[in-house]
Amino acid sequence: MKQRRRHPLTLRAAYKDDLHKRLCDYITDTNFSRNGQSTDMPMLKKAVKFWLDAFFALRALIALRRLRQPSLVILTYHRVLAEDDSHRLCEQPGMIVSPGHLRNHIAIMESLGAVPMFLDDWLEQQKQSPENLPRLAFAVTFDDGWRDNFTQGLPVLREKNTPATIFLVSDFLDTKHVFWPEQILHLLTTVPPATVKRCLPGTLDWLRDYARDFRLGERKLSIEDADKVINRLKTLDDFEIYEHLKKTFNQCPELQPRAETAYILQAADIDALVDSGLIRFGAHTRNHARLNRLQSIEQLKDEVVNCKQLLEERLKNPIGLFCYPNGDITPDGERLVEAHYTAACTTETGLNRASTSPFKLRRLNLHDGNARHTLGLLATLGKGKL
Ligand SMILES: [Zn+2]
Repeated sequence: MKQRRRHPLTLRAAYKDDLHKRLCDYITDTNFSRNGQSTDMPMLKKAVKFWLDAFFALRALIALRRLRQPSLVILTYHRVLAEDDSHRLCEQPGMIVSPGHLRNHIAIMESLGAVPMFLDDWLEQQKQSPENLPRLAFAVTFDDGWRDNFTQGLPVLREKNTPATIFLVSDFLDTKHVFWPEQILHLLTTVPPATVKRCLPGTLDWLRDYARDFRLGERKLSIEDADKVINRLKTLDDFEIYEHLKKTFNQCPELQPRAETAYILQAADIDALVDSGLIRFGAHTRNHARLNRLQSIEQLKDEVVNCKQLLEERLKNPIGLFCYPNGDITPDGERLVEAHYTAACTTETGLNRASTSPFKLRRLNLHDGNARHTLGLLATLGKGKL
């Protein structure tokens, strides 16, 4: 059948199809939790969520139809994992997109009439010759430098001929580092409760308060409950958490995740990503340190400025883009970023226009839980600044 190029207006048809699909989900009383697992959400809650999503999606569609100046949608991802990938069993729900959903998201953006662009190209063109920018563009970004961006994400980008920017954590490249949330997830959801119980007195005292209502050492936690513990731990600074974990594993090595394979991009992966011509890189600090938790200005400079220098030496290319870990910004951090970079991504949601500060770029954080369907993606956009 002849493929017709979809005009933004024809998205209404897709939107209608999606509404129909979503309604069927409710009728069969199934829905999906944030990690894509089937869950029994109460019917009323599902109905309210559905109509709220429909409202925000409509808001986004109306805004896109009324665009008066070139606009950019930035899509944010973390890990790309197939539906049956075992790494899903030990990952935060909001971190994962399947290759199929990534492909769909790109297709949805194209059906909206959006043109795929490198983020830095759009920003540059916006400064130099805004009249040549498409009415609507989209830029794909990945945070943290996960190895699956290369193994499972790049094939989709190749297939769709879509460029992307990966924000790298300079000191973790080429290592078998495991981010602290994944170490916590392993400890709480995978290690046998009897082992945790044995290590509890003394060794895990520091974690007790954060997992107070989850009967630590009596049962394995669900991913959702472990996710709550991770969010509570964010009151500590990243280095403090790594220090606690280091001491814990020294005393009880059986609690430590075995990182036989690297989670982070390795040298050969980076080379292949560069060779693809579809990937550029930005900075995401030296240690994925949340800037609002750093103890001194020296530490802040080290994470923000030295990260850029290290990446430039490693990649033999200038690094102009910065991305705030966890979206946490401080006035000092902001000043440093503005002095050393050309633009920065935040976790604020919405559309970017000429009037948007290049240091406060808005993005849509997409994952399997919030964007399984067209409706979810549009609703995520509609909830933001339009
Ligand atoms: Zn990050």
